[in-house]
Amino acid sequence: MPSADVIIRNAKIFTSDESNPGAEAVAVKGNRIIYVGTNAGAESFKDQSTRVINGQGHTLTAGFIDTHVHLLWGSIWMGSAQLQDVRTKEDLNKVLLDFANDNKTNPWVAGRGIKYSIVSTRQELDEIIADRPIYIGAFDGHTGWANTKALEMAGIMHDDGRALANGIIVRGNKGLATGELREGDAMNAVMDLVPLPDANRKRELLKLAIREFNKTGITSVHNMNGDMEELMAYAALEDAGEMNMRIYVPYHVKPEATEEMLAEAAEMAKVQMDYVRGGAVKFFMDGVWESYTAFNVHPYADEPDVKVEPIFSLEHFTRMASLCDKLGLQIAVHCCGDGAVRQTLDGYEAIQKINGKRDSRHRVEHIEVCQPEDMPRFRELGVIASMQTSHAPFSLEEDLVWTKRTGPERWPISFPWRDLKNSGAHLSLGSDWTVAPFDPMINIYVALNRRKYAPTDPDQRLTLEECILGYTRDAAYTEFMENEKGQVREGYLADLVLFSHDLFEVPAEEIRTVQAVMTMMDGRIVFENN
Ligand SMILES: [Zn+2]
Repeated sequence: MPSADVIIRNAKIFTSDESNPGAEAVAVKGNRIIYVGTNAGAESFKDQSTRVINGQGHTLTAGFIDTHVHLLWGSIWMGSAQLQDVRTKEDLNKVLLDFANDNKTNPWVAGRGIKYSIVSTRQELDEIIADRPIYIGAFDGHTGWANTKALEMAGIMHDDGRALANGIIVRGNKGLATGELREGDAMNAVMDLVPLPDANRKRELLKLAIREFNKTGITSVHNMNGDMEELMAYAALEDAGEMNMRIYVPYHVKPEATEEMLAEAAEMAKVQMDYVRGGAVKFFMDGVWESYTAFNVHPYADEPDVKVEPIFSLEHFTRMASLCDKLGLQIAVHCCGDGAVRQTLDGYEAIQKINGKRDSRHRVEHIEVCQPEDMPRFRELGVIASMQTSHAPFSLEEDLVWTKRTGPERWPISFPWRDLKNSGAHLSLGSDWTVAPFDPMINIYVALNRRKYAPTDPDQRLTLEECILGYTRDAAYTEFMENEKGQVREGYLADLVLFSHDLFEVPAEEIRTVQAVMTMMDGRIVFENN
């Protein structure tokens, strides 16, 4: 009998393994699980050097896999002013002034994570600080606001008649920029001026972010939109023996990308380290509802005249995606609007005809609205629904913008987790950090408790079992790793998380109080809270 390095006993193990759903003990040797079963059965793997952890009757699962985060970008932003808890102009005032004082050598005051409708003009920011440039980004990364100084430095105060390929500089009186910048090129005009941290600082911020992920039980992430340079930043951490999370990194195919540029994605797919892997591409089909950039089937409820074009035409998407598919890459597409979802599914259907059907597991990200006739197409085409539950407005009262943009007609098919799951779609869960917090308990809380926006809406909530499966087994499937991880199963990688409670005994409305107490990645305990 091989002796285990670690045995966790007296746990309530939710294995995510249908052939062996529950267990009380797990034994780990090296980076693999060597036993899953009873306390008594685990005894025979014990010797003097085995560390035995008492699970105290709490839930143990496979390490959580967040299938949609922006890790490097998010960790860099962790070094700027944190605005996610700002609710009023007074809050914003305080956070920005504190940041400015604490970072006197930094010429810029940059912040992230702010909600919509707290500020909308440069003058409001000028009142806080006028002599240093300010740039603040919305929580969803699709809108930014700058003060006058920043707009002047970027040379976009005055309208020079140039149109942006992707983005809108909102202009008011005499064509002067109001301070609101919508989407890529508009935000980048200012954001590109904000100095990036140097390589050392970047690495420290990345390690800090990974530690925070581990604290919540996350052992793997899918890093959405990357490139070879970003992949190498993660690889360097693994080479240095300092990587405590598994990271899957797609190549971001921008609308201006040429066919030749896809070679970079193919090169990234060759990187298959223990923790850091390429093998996928990411497209954006549209923006977000909040900034009127979601590509929808029907007009916006609150601005029926707004016309949104998708970022890729169907022909353009099909051409580029079919080349990626031919290279054996997995494709993930950002789609918030129902029109974007439909067009992406149309594209996937077309490339199956061009290249033939294979086990491609292409994905649609977000799916904030989905027309009923498109739902069964996920199952038919073998497409994964990659969804982030805490993007959904928790209730009508709590949301100021999203529910107005979509309107009551669309609420029954908004964030349709339940309907998609029932239609046979493969559902994987994540956070889209930094858009939403990565703590899985916050996302599970919304999945379990979200209110209907209108009493006649269908109930789209998920069960706790479905949430855990969406973060473990089904998330592993989403990255072709279902035979290696995502289950507490003999022979599988020892990625495990022990929680502070028996999750199934905690009332749904209190699930946010649950914390990880021990997180193991690759057989190593990467977080422990005594
Ligand atoms: Zn994202």
